[in-house]
Amino acid sequence: MLTDLLPASQPETVPVAEAAGRYLYADLEAKVSHPSATESALDGIACRETDTLSATQSRPLRLKVVGESRAGVPFAGHVGAGECVRIYTGAPVPGGADAICPVEQLEDDDSDAVLLLRPASPSDVRPEGGDFRAGEVVLHTGQRLTPARLALAVSLGHAEVTVRRRLRVALLSTGDEVREPGTVLTPGQVYDSNRYGLAAMIREAGAEVIDLGHAPDSPQRLAELVEGAGGADVLLTSGGVSMGKYDFMRDLLLEQGRVSFWKVRLRPGGPAMLGGWRGLPVFGLPGNPVSSLVVFQVIVRPALTGEQPFTLRLRAATPFRAIADKAAYWRGNIQGGTVSDYGKQGSGVLRSLSDTGALV
Ligand code: AMP
Ligand code: MG
Repeated sequence: MLTDLLPASQPETVPVAEAAGRYLYADLEAKVSHPSATESALDGIACRETDTLSATQSRPLRLKVVGESRAGVPFAGHVGAGECVRIYTGAPVPGGADAICPVEQLEDDDSDAVLLLRPASPSDVRPEGGDFRAGEVVLHTGQRLTPARLALAVSLGHAEVTVRRRLRVALLSTGDEVREPGTVLTPGQVYDSNRYGLAAMIREAGAEVIDLGHAPDSPQRLAELVEGAGGADVLLTSGGVSMGKYDFMRDLLLEQGRVSFWKVRLRPGGPAMLGGWRGLPVFGLPGNPVSSLVVFQVIVRPALTGEQPFTLRLRAATPFRAIADKAAYWRGNIQGGTVSDYGKQGSGVLRSLSDTGALV
């Protein structure tokens, strides 16, 4: 497993307000039950169901109002036969009552009685612990705290959560032709889209970026910049891993580290490399923009997060070509339950990624 190359994850306890997007290091138990008491799902009255079975529009049933229960201020007494209390959403259902009749089905008779136009229903009573019970494990190790899970963690009673420490990913792009955005290009040059796209993907994967900048195609300068990866957990590079005379990234690892594998049966992304440099795992991504981002999604992200890409089985609306002995990832669009070919599948065509929603 590629995940095994990465350092064992370390725990870190953070306030829940800062935990969005983090991965749980340990299971989370409910500290309380929810609902914390048997409560009403509606505004209306609480009463005994059996008292109300005969209530209809034409023959309303009269109940005596003996009190009120509101959220945070329960009714202290007991509801007896022929009695009810006014109740509001989230308010505890008093002892003796087992059903709710919503306000829409009530008419006031006089100030201390109501008329029910239909029977009261037990299904509008939310039982204590019906959602989760104190002590129950509700969220699990490895799960990412999406907004909904974060909200759930709070409702379980956690003010702090123990999450995996963010991995520190050092990032470097290479190539004499590669330039910073904001500068003027001369023919043959290209903006450093990979470094920005990969940095965004690293952060999306819940990791931290150590930006080492950009190296020209010079073995010496490359070696100097790679030194900056010292405090990182992983090094990610773009470019310089193909067969060209100026592809120095692989040479650097062959000389100063190791190359575990080079070239994968993947399209795009064939030249990808995995190696090590002073104990640091190194993912050498190809320079072609689509290749580097696809290799990130297919190989690097699962290693960083422990999550596999989300997959769907769909019918293809257009043909997709298979490539012998390779996993091909064509860019496609999902529409109406089918997926269709984007068309321009060149590994330099970033729009094939930005315009589509799927790797097919
Ligand atoms: P390489 O893998 O270095 O041989 O580069 C392959 C192709 O990707 C070339 O067309 C490069 O110009 C392009 N390329 C390399 N690095 C980047 C980068 N950081 N951003 C955008 N394009 C790049
Ligand atoms: Mg290059």
